[in-house]
Amino acid sequence: MCSIIGYLGDETASQIIVKALKRMEYRGYDSVGVATEVENKIELKKGVGKVSEVNSKVQLDSLPGKIGIGHTRWATHGKVTDSNAHPHPSNSKKIAIVHNGIIENFTELKEDLIKQGYNFSSDTDSEVIANLLQKNYEISNNVKESMMRTTSQLKGHFAFVAMFDNGELAAAKFHEPLILGLGKNDYFLTSDVLGFIEFTDNAIYLENGTFVILEKNKFEIFDFEGKKIKNEITKVSKEFADSYKGDYAHFTLKEIFEQPSTILKSSEKFDEEITKIAKFLNTDKSIYITGSGSSYNSALIAKQIFSKYGKIKMEPIISSELQFSPDSIDDNSILIAISQSGESADVLDAVKIAKEKNCKIFSIVNLSTSTLVRESDISVGMNCGPEIGVAATKSFTSQLVILNKILQKSVIDYQINFKKISDNISEILENTKQIQKIASELKDISDIYVLGRGLNFPIASEAALKLKELTYIHAEGIPGGELKHGPLALMDSNVYVIIINPSDSTYTDTLTSAREIKARGAKIIGISDIQSDIYDHWIQIPKTDEVSYPITEIIPIQLLAYYAAVEKETDPDYPRNLAKSVTVK
Ligand code: GLU
Repeated sequence: MCSIIGYLGDETASQIIVKALKRMEYRGYDSVGVATEVENKIELKKGVGKVSEVNSKVQLDSLPGKIGIGHTRWATHGKVTDSNAHPHPSNSKKIAIVHNGIIENFTELKEDLIKQGYNFSSDTDSEVIANLLQKNYEISNNVKESMMRTTSQLKGHFAFVAMFDNGELAAAKFHEPLILGLGKNDYFLTSDVLGFIEFTDNAIYLENGTFVILEKNKFEIFDFEGKKIKNEITKVSKEFADSYKGDYAHFTLKEIFEQPSTILKSSEKFDEEITKIAKFLNTDKSIYITGSGSSYNSALIAKQIFSKYGKIKMEPIISSELQFSPDSIDDNSILIAISQSGESADVLDAVKIAKEKNCKIFSIVNLSTSTLVRESDISVGMNCGPEIGVAATKSFTSQLVILNKILQKSVIDYQINFKKISDNISEILENTKQIQKIASELKDISDIYVLGRGLNFPIASEAALKLKELTYIHAEGIPGGELKHGPLALMDSNVYVIIINPSDSTYTDTLTSAREIKARGAKIIGISDIQSDIYDHWIQIPKTDEVSYPITEIIPIQLLAYYAAVEKETDPDYPRNLAKSVTVK
Protein backbone atom coordinates (compact mmCIF):
# COMPACT_ATOMS: atom_id res chain seq x y z
CA MET A 1 0.00 0.00 0.00
CA CYS A 2 1.44 3.39 0.78
CA SER A 3 5.03 3.96 1.85
CA ILE A 4 6.22 5.77 4.91
CA ILE A 5 9.72 6.87 5.73
CA GLY A 6 11.48 8.62 8.54
CA TYR A 7 15.13 9.70 8.33
CA LEU A 8 17.52 10.97 10.98
CA GLY A 9 21.19 11.32 10.17
CA ASP A 10 23.96 13.40 8.64
CA GLU A 11 22.54 13.90 5.15
CA THR A 12 19.88 16.30 3.85
CA ALA A 13 16.76 14.40 4.88
CA SER A 14 14.45 15.61 2.09
CA GLN A 15 16.86 14.38 -0.62
CA ILE A 16 17.21 10.95 0.95
CA ILE A 17 13.46 10.75 1.47
CA VAL A 18 12.50 11.71 -2.10
CA LYS A 19 14.92 9.12 -3.50
CA ALA A 20 13.59 6.46 -1.14
CA LEU A 21 9.99 7.28 -1.97
CA LYS A 22 10.73 6.86 -5.68
CA ARG A 23 12.08 3.37 -5.02
CA MET A 24 9.09 2.43 -2.87
CA GLU A 25 6.57 4.19 -5.10
CA TYR A 26 5.32 0.90 -6.52
CA ARG A 27 3.55 0.25 -3.22
CA GLY A 28 0.95 3.00 -3.61
CA TYR A 29 1.05 6.36 -5.21
CA ASP A 30 -1.77 8.85 -5.52
CA SER A 31 -0.05 11.66 -3.63
CA VAL A 32 3.17 12.41 -1.85
CA GLY A 33 4.66 14.66 0.82
CA VAL A 34 7.75 15.39 2.88
CA ALA A 35 8.29 17.26 6.17
CA THR A 36 11.58 18.14 7.84
CA GLU A 37 12.68 19.68 11.10
CA VAL A 38 15.12 22.60 11.23
CA GLU A 39 15.85 24.60 14.36
CA ASN A 40 12.77 23.33 16.16
CA LYS A 41 10.47 24.20 13.28
CA ILE A 42 8.65 21.76 11.04
CA GLU A 43 8.47 22.56 7.32
CA LEU A 44 6.24 20.63 4.97
CA LYS A 45 5.45 20.24 1.26
CA LYS A 46 3.01 17.87 -0.43
CA GLY A 47 0.77 17.38 -3.44
CA VAL A 48 -1.18 15.00 -5.68
CA GLY A 49 0.71 12.94 -8.27
CA LYS A 50 3.80 10.84 -8.77
CA VAL A 51 6.89 11.60 -6.68
CA SER A 52 8.79 13.08 -9.63
CA GLU A 53 5.81 15.20 -10.78
CA VAL A 54 5.18 16.68 -7.34
CA ASN A 55 8.88 17.13 -6.78
CA SER A 56 9.30 19.15 -9.96
CA LYS A 57 6.26 21.23 -9.01
CA VAL A 58 7.06 22.02 -5.38
CA GLN A 59 10.67 20.83 -4.89
CA LEU A 60 10.07 18.44 -2.03
CA ASP A 61 13.81 17.75 -1.96
CA SER A 62 14.72 21.38 -1.34
CA LEU A 63 13.45 21.27 2.26
CA PRO A 64 16.41 21.84 4.61
CA GLY A 65 17.21 19.74 7.67
CA LYS A 66 18.69 16.39 8.63
CA ILE A 67 15.56 14.92 10.16
CA GLY A 68 12.47 14.24 8.11
CA ILE A 69 9.47 12.11 7.24
CA GLY A 70 7.87 11.27 3.91
CA HIS A 71 4.90 9.42 2.47
CA THR A 72 3.32 8.19 -0.73
CA ARG A 73 -0.41 7.85 -0.14
CA TRP A 74 -2.91 5.26 -1.34
CA ALA A 75 -6.11 6.90 -0.18
CA THR A 76 -8.48 4.95 2.03
CA HIS A 77 -10.24 7.83 3.85
CA GLY A 78 -10.79 11.07 1.98
CA LYS A 79 -10.33 11.95 -1.65
CA VAL A 80 -7.02 12.25 -3.46
CA THR A 81 -6.32 15.94 -2.75
CA ASP A 82 -3.36 18.05 -1.68
CA SER A 83 -4.81 18.58 1.79
CA ASN A 84 -5.40 14.85 2.32
CA ALA A 85 -1.82 14.01 1.32
CA HIS A 86 0.52 13.20 4.20
CA PRO A 87 2.42 14.38 6.27
CA HIS A 88 -0.22 15.81 8.57
CA PRO A 89 0.87 18.39 11.16
CA SER A 90 -0.78 18.65 14.55
CA ASN A 91 -2.61 21.89 15.40
CA SER A 92 0.40 23.32 17.20
CA LYS A 93 2.63 22.40 14.19
CA LYS A 94 5.05 20.95 16.73
CA ILE A 95 4.45 17.39 15.54
CA ALA A 96 3.87 15.93 12.06
CA ILE A 97 3.01 12.36 11.13
CA VAL A 98 2.92 9.98 8.18
CA HIS A 99 0.67 6.94 8.43
CA ASN A 100 0.11 3.68 6.59
CA GLY A 101 -3.12 1.84 7.36
CA ILE A 102 -6.54 2.61 8.72
CA ILE A 103 -7.59 4.06 12.08
CA GLU A 104 -10.94 2.33 12.61
CA ASN A 105 -12.07 4.50 15.54
CA PHE A 106 -11.03 7.80 13.95
CA THR A 107 -14.59 9.22 13.95
CA GLU A 108 -14.94 8.95 17.75
CA LEU A 109 -11.41 10.22 18.32
CA LYS A 110 -11.91 13.14 15.94
CA GLU A 111 -15.25 14.16 17.51
CA ASP A 112 -13.65 14.04 20.91
CA LEU A 113 -10.67 16.15 19.83
CA ILE A 114 -12.95 18.69 18.10
CA LYS A 115 -14.88 19.06 21.38
CA GLN A 116 -11.58 19.86 23.04
CA GLY A 117 -10.90 22.63 20.51
CA TYR A 118 -8.75 20.85 17.91
CA ASN A 119 -9.22 21.70 14.21
CA PHE A 120 -8.84 19.31 11.30
CA SER A 121 -7.75 20.27 7.84
CA SER A 122 -8.05 16.91 6.06
CA ASP A 123 -10.67 14.19 5.64
CA THR A 124 -8.21 11.45 6.49
CA ASP A 125 -8.37 9.11 9.42
CA SER A 126 -4.63 9.69 9.87
CA GLU A 127 -4.81 13.30 11.07
CA VAL A 128 -6.21 12.17 14.43
CA ILE A 129 -2.83 10.58 15.19
CA ALA A 130 -1.09 13.97 14.93
CA ASN A 131 -3.52 15.73 17.25
CA LEU A 132 -3.74 12.84 19.71
CA LEU A 133 0.03 12.87 19.94
CA GLN A 134 0.00 16.63 20.50
CA LYS A 135 -2.57 16.28 23.26
CA ASN A 136 -0.68 13.43 24.92
CA TYR A 137 2.65 15.21 24.55
CA GLU A 138 1.26 18.36 26.16
CA ILE A 139 0.08 16.25 29.13
CA SER A 140 3.33 14.31 29.58
CA ASN A 141 6.01 16.46 27.93
CA ASN A 142 7.65 13.17 27.05
CA VAL A 143 7.83 11.42 23.66
CA LYS A 144 7.73 7.89 25.08
CA GLU A 145 4.74 8.63 27.32
CA SER A 146 2.87 10.31 24.45
CA MET A 147 3.49 7.31 22.17
CA MET A 148 2.22 4.90 24.85
CA ARG A 149 -0.93 6.92 25.43
CA THR A 150 -1.58 7.44 21.72
CA THR A 151 -1.07 3.82 20.64
CA SER A 152 -3.39 2.66 23.43
CA GLN A 153 -6.16 4.88 22.04
CA LEU A 154 -5.89 3.82 18.39
CA LYS A 155 -7.87 0.93 16.91
CA GLY A 156 -7.18 -0.53 13.48
CA HIS A 157 -4.04 -1.23 11.48
CA PHE A 158 -1.20 1.24 11.52
CA ALA A 159 2.44 2.01 11.00
CA PHE A 160 3.19 5.64 11.58
CA VAL A 161 6.23 7.86 11.97
CA ALA A 162 5.94 11.02 14.04
CA MET A 163 8.43 13.87 13.96
CA PHE A 164 8.65 16.13 16.98
CA ASP A 165 9.97 19.66 16.68
CA ASN A 166 12.63 18.85 19.31
CA GLY A 167 14.30 16.66 16.65
CA GLU A 168 13.09 13.27 17.86
CA LEU A 169 11.43 10.69 15.63
CA ALA A 170 9.04 8.06 16.95
CA ALA A 171 7.35 5.28 15.02
CA ALA A 172 4.81 2.60 15.93
CA LYS A 173 3.89 -0.67 14.26
CA PHE A 174 0.59 -2.52 14.48
CA HIS A 175 -0.22 -4.92 11.60
CA GLU A 176 1.45 -2.76 8.95
CA PRO A 177 5.08 -3.12 7.88
CA LEU A 178 7.77 -1.02 9.56
CA ILE A 179 11.50 -1.60 9.35
CA LEU A 180 14.32 0.24 11.08
CA GLY A 181 17.39 0.51 8.85
CA LEU A 182 20.63 1.08 10.76
CA GLY A 183 23.22 3.01 8.74
CA LYS A 184 26.65 4.16 9.92
CA ASN A 185 25.49 7.55 11.05
CA ASP A 186 21.85 7.44 10.09
CA TYR A 187 18.57 5.76 10.89
CA PHE A 188 15.81 4.94 8.42
CA LEU A 189 12.25 3.96 9.28
CA THR A 190 10.52 2.56 6.22
CA SER A 191 7.73 0.30 5.00
CA ASP A 192 10.08 -1.55 2.67
CA VAL A 193 13.79 -2.35 2.61
CA LEU A 194 13.99 -0.65 -0.80
CA GLY A 195 13.75 2.61 1.17
CA PHE A 196 17.28 2.22 2.59
CA ILE A 197 18.98 -0.73 0.94
CA GLU A 198 21.49 1.46 -0.91
CA PHE A 199 22.77 2.78 2.43
CA THR A 200 22.68 -0.24 4.71
CA ASP A 201 21.74 -3.90 4.91
CA ASN A 202 21.42 -3.88 8.72
CA ALA A 203 17.80 -3.80 9.76
CA ILE A 204 15.41 -4.45 12.60
CA TYR A 205 11.97 -5.72 11.67
CA LEU A 206 9.84 -4.16 14.37
CA GLU A 207 7.49 -6.51 16.18
CA ASN A 208 3.78 -5.91 16.20
CA GLY A 209 2.69 -3.75 19.10
CA THR A 210 6.01 -1.96 19.51
CA PHE A 211 7.32 1.53 18.94
CA VAL A 212 10.78 3.00 18.47
CA ILE A 213 12.19 6.36 19.51
CA LEU A 214 15.13 7.78 17.58
CA GLU A 215 17.50 10.49 18.60
CA LYS A 216 20.92 11.32 17.19
CA ASN A 217 23.00 8.09 17.57
CA LYS A 218 20.47 6.43 19.82
CA PHE A 219 17.41 4.26 19.39
CA GLU A 220 15.15 2.52 21.85
CA ILE A 221 12.31 0.10 21.21
CA PHE A 222 9.36 -0.39 23.58
CA ASP A 223 6.15 -2.36 23.59
CA PHE A 224 2.90 -0.37 23.78
CA GLU A 225 2.97 -0.73 27.59
CA GLY A 226 6.37 0.97 27.68
CA LYS A 227 8.51 -2.10 28.43
CA LYS A 228 11.90 -1.97 26.74
CA ILE A 229 12.30 -4.53 23.94
CA LYS A 230 15.49 -5.99 22.49
CA ASN A 231 15.18 -6.71 18.78
CA GLU A 232 17.58 -8.69 16.66
CA ILE A 233 19.46 -7.02 13.84
CA THR A 234 18.85 -8.84 10.54
CA LYS A 235 20.98 -8.72 7.38
CA VAL A 236 18.73 -7.76 4.49
CA SER A 237 19.29 -9.52 1.19
CA LYS A 238 21.22 -7.23 -1.15
CA GLU A 239 19.40 -8.63 -4.18
CA PHE A 240 16.57 -6.23 -3.38
CA ALA A 241 18.87 -3.37 -4.24
CA ASP A 242 18.81 -4.71 -7.78
CA SER A 243 15.54 -3.15 -8.77
CA TYR A 244 16.32 -1.04 -11.80
CA LYS A 245 14.55 -1.22 -15.14
CA GLY A 246 17.77 -1.50 -17.12
CA ASP A 247 17.07 -1.20 -20.82
CA TYR A 248 13.38 -2.07 -20.50
CA ALA A 249 10.69 0.58 -20.88
CA HIS A 250 8.88 -0.71 -17.78
CA PHE A 251 9.52 -2.98 -14.81
CA THR A 252 6.57 -5.12 -15.93
CA LEU A 253 8.19 -5.85 -19.30
CA LYS A 254 11.54 -6.56 -17.63
CA GLU A 255 9.86 -8.93 -15.19
CA ILE A 256 7.99 -10.77 -17.98
CA PHE A 257 11.27 -11.25 -19.83
CA GLU A 258 13.05 -12.49 -16.70
CA GLN A 259 10.83 -15.57 -16.54
CA PRO A 260 13.02 -18.06 -18.43
CA SER A 261 15.60 -17.53 -15.69
CA THR A 262 13.29 -17.02 -12.69
CA ILE A 263 11.54 -20.32 -13.48
CA LEU A 264 14.87 -22.06 -13.05
CA LYS A 265 15.91 -20.04 -10.01
CA SER A 266 12.62 -20.86 -8.26
CA SER A 267 13.13 -24.54 -8.98
CA GLU A 268 16.66 -24.62 -7.57
CA LYS A 269 16.42 -23.57 -3.94
CA PHE A 270 14.57 -24.45 -0.73
CA ASP A 271 14.88 -28.22 -1.28
CA GLU A 272 14.90 -28.95 2.42
CA GLU A 273 11.76 -26.90 3.12
CA ILE A 274 9.96 -28.39 0.11
CA THR A 275 10.81 -31.93 1.21
CA LYS A 276 9.50 -31.22 4.71
CA ILE A 277 6.24 -29.76 3.39
CA ALA A 278 5.81 -32.69 0.98
CA LYS A 279 6.09 -35.11 3.94
CA PHE A 280 3.41 -33.23 5.87
CA LEU A 281 1.05 -33.36 2.89
CA ASN A 282 0.92 -37.16 2.99
CA THR A 283 -1.65 -37.00 5.76
CA ASP A 284 -5.26 -37.67 6.67
CA LYS A 285 -5.61 -34.09 7.86
CA SER A 286 -7.49 -31.53 5.77
CA ILE A 287 -5.33 -29.29 3.60
CA TYR A 288 -6.33 -25.76 2.55
CA ILE A 289 -4.55 -23.39 0.21
CA THR A 290 -5.11 -19.66 0.23
CA GLY A 291 -4.11 -16.46 -1.55
CA SER A 292 -5.47 -13.26 -3.07
CA GLY A 293 -5.53 -12.24 -6.74
CA SER A 294 -2.92 -14.11 -8.78
CA SER A 295 -1.89 -16.18 -5.77
CA TYR A 296 -5.45 -17.49 -5.53
CA ASN A 297 -5.27 -18.50 -9.20
CA SER A 298 -2.13 -20.48 -8.35
CA ALA A 299 -4.08 -22.14 -5.53
CA LEU A 300 -6.75 -23.21 -8.05
CA ILE A 301 -4.08 -24.89 -10.17
CA ALA A 302 -2.60 -26.57 -7.10
CA LYS A 303 -5.96 -28.10 -6.23
CA GLN A 304 -6.17 -29.74 -9.64
CA ILE A 305 -2.60 -31.02 -9.98
CA PHE A 306 -2.35 -32.33 -6.40
CA SER A 307 -5.60 -34.27 -6.65
CA LYS A 308 -4.96 -35.63 -10.14
CA TYR A 309 -1.31 -36.61 -9.81
CA GLY A 310 -0.84 -37.01 -6.07
CA LYS A 311 -4.32 -38.04 -4.85
CA ILE A 312 -3.83 -35.21 -2.36
CA LYS A 313 -6.96 -33.15 -1.82
CA MET A 314 -6.66 -29.47 -1.01
CA GLU A 315 -9.35 -26.83 -0.82
CA PRO A 316 -8.60 -23.38 -2.27
CA ILE A 317 -9.82 -20.45 -0.17
CA ILE A 318 -9.90 -16.77 -1.18
CA SER A 319 -8.00 -15.25 1.75
CA SER A 320 -10.38 -12.35 2.35
CA GLU A 321 -13.36 -14.73 2.56
CA LEU A 322 -12.14 -16.98 5.37
CA GLN A 323 -13.15 -14.53 8.10
CA PHE A 324 -16.80 -15.03 7.07
CA SER A 325 -16.66 -18.81 7.40
CA PRO A 326 -13.84 -19.65 9.80
CA ASP A 327 -15.56 -22.92 10.69
CA SER A 328 -15.12 -24.14 7.14
CA ILE A 329 -11.58 -25.16 8.09
CA ASP A 330 -10.86 -28.02 10.50
CA ASP A 331 -8.85 -27.71 13.71
CA ASN A 332 -5.30 -29.10 13.53
CA SER A 333 -5.31 -29.06 9.73
CA ILE A 334 -2.82 -27.56 7.24
CA LEU A 335 -2.96 -24.17 5.52
CA ILE A 336 -0.68 -23.30 2.60
CA ALA A 337 -0.58 -19.51 2.20
CA ILE A 338 0.74 -17.82 -0.94
CA SER A 339 1.76 -14.16 -1.12
CA GLN A 340 4.38 -12.35 -3.18
CA SER A 341 5.02 -9.67 -0.57
CA GLY A 342 4.21 -11.77 2.48
CA GLU A 343 2.51 -8.64 3.82
CA SER A 344 -0.93 -8.98 2.21
CA ALA A 345 -3.36 -8.19 5.04
CA ASP A 346 -6.01 -10.59 3.74
CA VAL A 347 -3.58 -13.51 3.61
CA LEU A 348 -2.19 -12.67 7.06
CA ASP A 349 -5.73 -12.58 8.42
CA ALA A 350 -6.47 -16.02 6.97
CA VAL A 351 -3.27 -17.30 8.57
CA LYS A 352 -4.29 -15.81 11.91
CA ILE A 353 -7.64 -17.62 11.78
CA ALA A 354 -5.90 -20.89 10.90
CA LYS A 355 -3.38 -20.48 13.73
CA GLU A 356 -6.20 -19.96 16.21
CA LYS A 357 -7.41 -23.38 15.05
CA ASN A 358 -4.00 -24.84 15.67
CA CYS A 359 -3.27 -25.42 11.98
CA LYS A 360 0.22 -25.87 10.57
CA ILE A 361 1.14 -22.96 8.29
CA PHE A 362 3.26 -23.46 5.18
CA SER A 363 3.90 -20.50 2.94
CA ILE A 364 5.24 -19.56 -0.48
CA VAL A 365 6.58 -16.01 -0.31
CA ASN A 366 8.95 -13.83 -2.35
CA LEU A 367 10.07 -11.51 0.44
CA SER A 368 11.97 -13.67 2.90
CA THR A 369 11.89 -11.04 5.63
CA SER A 370 8.12 -10.56 5.54
CA THR A 371 5.52 -11.08 8.25
CA LEU A 372 4.09 -14.18 6.54
CA VAL A 373 7.46 -15.94 6.69
CA ARG A 374 7.68 -15.21 10.40
CA GLU A 375 4.13 -16.49 10.93
CA SER A 376 4.81 -19.78 9.09
CA ASP A 377 6.00 -23.16 10.33
CA ILE A 378 7.81 -23.70 7.04
CA SER A 379 8.26 -21.17 4.28
CA VAL A 380 9.53 -21.55 0.72
CA GLY A 381 10.97 -18.50 -1.03
CA MET A 382 9.87 -17.80 -4.61
CA ASN A 383 13.45 -16.78 -5.28
CA CYS A 384 12.49 -14.75 -8.36
CA GLY A 385 14.01 -11.41 -7.26
CA PRO A 386 12.14 -8.21 -6.54
CA GLU A 387 8.90 -7.74 -8.47
CA ILE A 388 8.19 -4.03 -8.81
CA GLY A 389 5.40 -3.99 -11.42
CA VAL A 390 2.10 -3.98 -9.53
CA ALA A 391 0.63 -6.78 -11.65
CA ALA A 392 2.11 -10.16 -10.72
CA THR A 393 4.01 -11.78 -13.59
CA LYS A 394 7.19 -13.63 -12.64
CA SER A 395 5.99 -14.23 -9.09
CA PHE A 396 2.91 -16.04 -10.47
CA THR A 397 4.95 -18.45 -12.59
CA SER A 398 7.37 -18.96 -9.69
CA GLN A 399 4.49 -19.93 -7.44
CA LEU A 400 3.44 -22.55 -9.98
CA VAL A 401 6.99 -23.89 -10.15
CA ILE A 402 7.17 -24.28 -6.39
CA LEU A 403 3.76 -25.90 -6.12
CA ASN A 404 4.83 -28.37 -8.82
CA LYS A 405 8.07 -29.03 -6.97
CA ILE A 406 6.19 -29.78 -3.75
CA LEU A 407 4.02 -32.20 -5.71
CA GLN A 408 7.10 -33.76 -7.30
CA LYS A 409 8.54 -34.40 -3.83
CA SER A 410 5.25 -35.86 -2.61
CA VAL A 411 4.71 -38.25 -5.52
CA ILE A 412 7.50 -40.46 -6.80
CA ASP A 413 6.51 -40.66 -10.45
CA TYR A 414 5.37 -37.07 -11.05
CA GLN A 415 7.53 -35.49 -13.71
CA ILE A 416 7.88 -31.87 -14.72
CA ASN A 417 10.81 -30.46 -16.65
CA PHE A 418 11.51 -26.87 -15.61
CA LYS A 419 14.40 -26.51 -18.08
CA LYS A 420 12.02 -27.36 -20.93
CA ILE A 421 9.44 -24.86 -19.62
CA SER A 422 12.13 -22.19 -19.42
CA ASP A 423 13.15 -22.91 -23.05
CA ASN A 424 9.52 -22.79 -24.18
CA ILE A 425 9.05 -19.41 -22.52
CA SER A 426 12.17 -18.07 -24.24
CA GLU A 427 10.66 -19.19 -27.55
CA ILE A 428 7.39 -17.34 -26.83
CA LEU A 429 9.31 -14.21 -25.86
CA GLU A 430 10.82 -14.11 -29.35
CA ASN A 431 7.36 -13.62 -30.80
CA THR A 432 6.51 -10.19 -29.42
CA LYS A 433 5.90 -8.47 -32.80
CA GLN A 434 2.75 -10.49 -33.53
CA ILE A 435 1.49 -10.00 -29.96
CA GLN A 436 2.11 -6.23 -30.19
CA LYS A 437 0.05 -6.13 -33.40
CA ILE A 438 -2.88 -7.94 -31.77
CA ALA A 439 -2.59 -5.64 -28.73
CA SER A 440 -3.08 -2.60 -30.96
CA GLU A 441 -6.51 -3.99 -31.97
CA LEU A 442 -7.58 -4.26 -28.33
CA LYS A 443 -7.10 -0.56 -27.68
CA ASP A 444 -10.74 0.44 -28.13
CA ILE A 445 -12.39 -2.79 -27.04
CA SER A 446 -14.53 -2.68 -23.91
CA ASP A 447 -14.94 -6.41 -23.19
CA ILE A 448 -12.60 -9.37 -23.42
CA TYR A 449 -13.49 -12.89 -22.35
CA VAL A 450 -10.95 -15.61 -21.73
CA LEU A 451 -11.99 -19.21 -22.02
CA GLY A 452 -10.26 -22.33 -20.71
CA ARG A 453 -11.07 -25.71 -19.26
CA GLY A 454 -9.38 -27.83 -16.58
CA LEU A 455 -5.95 -26.46 -15.69
CA ASN A 456 -6.47 -23.77 -18.32
CA PHE A 457 -9.40 -22.21 -16.46
CA PRO A 458 -7.32 -20.74 -13.59
CA ILE A 459 -5.03 -19.42 -16.33
CA ALA A 460 -8.07 -17.86 -18.04
CA SER A 461 -8.89 -16.16 -14.70
CA GLU A 462 -5.29 -15.00 -14.33
CA ALA A 463 -5.34 -13.72 -17.93
CA ALA A 464 -8.50 -11.72 -17.24
CA LEU A 465 -6.91 -10.31 -14.09
CA LYS A 466 -3.80 -9.16 -16.05
CA LEU A 467 -6.01 -7.52 -18.69
CA LYS A 468 -8.08 -5.70 -16.06
CA GLU A 469 -5.06 -4.54 -14.07
CA LEU A 470 -2.94 -3.36 -16.98
CA THR A 471 -5.46 -2.19 -19.60
CA TYR A 472 -8.58 -1.30 -17.54
CA ILE A 473 -10.59 -3.28 -20.11
CA HIS A 474 -13.39 -5.35 -18.62
CA ALA A 475 -12.18 -8.95 -18.79
CA GLU A 476 -13.59 -12.20 -17.46
CA GLY A 477 -12.31 -15.75 -17.25
CA ILE A 478 -14.90 -18.37 -18.18
CA PRO A 479 -14.71 -22.15 -17.69
CA GLY A 480 -15.40 -23.41 -21.24
CA GLY A 481 -18.35 -25.58 -20.30
CA GLU A 482 -20.12 -22.67 -18.63
CA LEU A 483 -20.37 -20.75 -21.89
CA LYS A 484 -23.80 -22.09 -22.75
CA HIS A 485 -25.04 -21.46 -19.21
CA GLY A 486 -24.94 -17.68 -19.58
CA PRO A 487 -21.90 -15.96 -21.11
CA LEU A 488 -22.86 -16.96 -24.68
CA ALA A 489 -25.55 -14.26 -24.46
CA LEU A 490 -22.74 -11.67 -24.39
CA MET A 491 -21.05 -12.77 -27.60
CA ASP A 492 -21.31 -10.43 -30.58
CA SER A 493 -19.02 -8.67 -33.02
CA ASN A 494 -17.87 -6.08 -30.43
CA VAL A 495 -16.27 -8.71 -28.25
CA TYR A 496 -12.83 -10.37 -28.26
CA VAL A 497 -12.46 -13.84 -26.82
CA ILE A 498 -9.13 -15.42 -25.95
CA ILE A 499 -9.32 -19.18 -26.19
CA ILE A 500 -6.70 -21.04 -24.17
CA ASN A 501 -6.53 -24.27 -26.04
CA PRO A 502 -3.38 -26.36 -25.74
CA SER A 503 -3.46 -29.89 -27.11
CA ASP A 504 -4.26 -31.48 -23.75
CA SER A 505 -7.38 -33.37 -22.67
CA THR A 506 -9.50 -30.19 -22.94
CA TYR A 507 -8.60 -29.45 -26.58
CA THR A 508 -11.62 -30.82 -28.49
CA ASP A 509 -14.28 -29.45 -26.12
CA THR A 510 -12.66 -26.03 -26.08
CA LEU A 511 -12.46 -25.93 -29.87
CA THR A 512 -16.20 -26.61 -29.95
CA SER A 513 -16.75 -23.64 -27.60
CA ALA A 514 -14.63 -21.50 -29.92
CA ARG A 515 -16.88 -22.50 -32.84
CA GLU A 516 -20.01 -21.52 -30.89
CA ILE A 517 -18.48 -18.13 -30.11
CA LYS A 518 -17.30 -17.57 -33.68
CA ALA A 519 -20.83 -18.26 -34.93
CA ARG A 520 -21.98 -15.21 -32.87
CA GLY A 521 -19.46 -12.92 -34.60
CA ALA A 522 -16.92 -12.43 -31.79
CA LYS A 523 -13.21 -12.14 -32.70
CA ILE A 524 -11.12 -15.04 -31.51
CA ILE A 525 -7.52 -15.10 -30.33
CA GLY A 526 -6.41 -18.71 -30.00
CA ILE A 527 -3.51 -19.63 -27.75
CA SER A 528 -2.53 -23.12 -28.79
CA ASP A 529 0.17 -25.33 -30.21
CA ILE A 530 -2.27 -26.37 -32.98
CA GLN A 531 -3.47 -23.95 -35.63
CA SER A 532 -7.16 -23.65 -36.52
CA ASP A 533 -9.00 -21.46 -39.00
CA ILE A 534 -11.51 -20.66 -36.24
CA TYR A 535 -8.91 -18.30 -34.75
CA ASP A 536 -8.77 -14.76 -36.13
CA HIS A 537 -5.32 -14.64 -34.52
CA TRP A 538 -3.34 -17.69 -33.58
CA ILE A 539 -0.63 -17.22 -30.95
CA GLN A 540 1.49 -20.29 -31.17
CA ILE A 541 2.89 -21.87 -28.02
CA PRO A 542 5.32 -24.80 -28.03
CA LYS A 543 3.86 -28.29 -27.62
CA THR A 544 4.42 -29.65 -24.15
CA ASP A 545 2.72 -31.76 -21.48
CA GLU A 546 -0.49 -31.05 -19.55
CA VAL A 547 1.13 -29.74 -16.36
CA SER A 548 3.64 -27.52 -18.16
CA TYR A 549 1.08 -25.74 -20.31
CA PRO A 550 -0.30 -23.43 -17.58
CA ILE A 551 3.16 -21.99 -16.78
CA THR A 552 3.80 -21.49 -20.50
CA GLU A 553 0.48 -20.18 -21.83
CA ILE A 554 0.18 -17.28 -19.38
CA ILE A 555 3.28 -15.64 -20.95
CA PRO A 556 1.70 -14.46 -24.26
CA ILE A 557 -1.24 -13.07 -22.27
CA GLN A 558 1.05 -11.13 -19.93
CA LEU A 559 2.66 -9.67 -23.05
CA LEU A 560 -0.71 -8.95 -24.67
CA ALA A 561 -1.92 -7.11 -21.55
CA TYR A 562 1.37 -5.21 -21.31
CA TYR A 563 1.40 -4.08 -24.95
CA ALA A 564 -2.31 -3.17 -24.86
CA ALA A 565 -1.56 -0.99 -21.80
CA VAL A 566 1.24 0.73 -23.72
CA GLU A 567 -1.17 1.28 -26.66
CA LYS A 568 -3.75 2.76 -24.29
CA GLU A 569 -1.07 4.91 -22.67
CA THR A 570 -1.85 3.61 -19.21
CA ASP A 571 1.10 3.02 -16.90
CA PRO A 572 1.72 -0.74 -16.86
CA ASP A 573 3.95 -0.58 -13.78
CA TYR A 574 1.57 1.42 -11.62
CA PRO A 575 -2.07 0.73 -12.60
CA ARG A 576 -4.52 3.27 -11.24
CA ASN A 577 -6.09 2.57 -7.84
CA LEU A 578 -3.89 -0.48 -7.24
CA ALA A 579 -0.93 -1.14 -5.04
CA LYS A 580 1.64 -3.90 -5.00
CA SER A 581 1.52 -4.83 -1.38
CA VAL A 582 -2.07 -4.67 -0.20
CA THR A 583 -1.51 -4.19 3.50
CA VAL A 584 -4.99 -2.91 4.30
CA LYS A 585 -8.18 -4.97 4.35
N1 GLU B 1 -5.78 5.90 5.76
C1 GLU B 1 -4.81 6.88 5.38
C2 GLU B 1 -5.34 7.84 4.32
O1 GLU B 1 -6.30 7.60 3.66
C3 GLU B 1 -3.49 6.27 4.94
C4 GLU B 1 -3.63 5.47 3.70
C5 GLU B 1 -2.33 4.84 3.27
O2 GLU B 1 -1.98 3.80 3.86
O3 GLU B 1 -1.75 5.40 2.33
O4 GLU B 1 -4.78 8.88 4.14
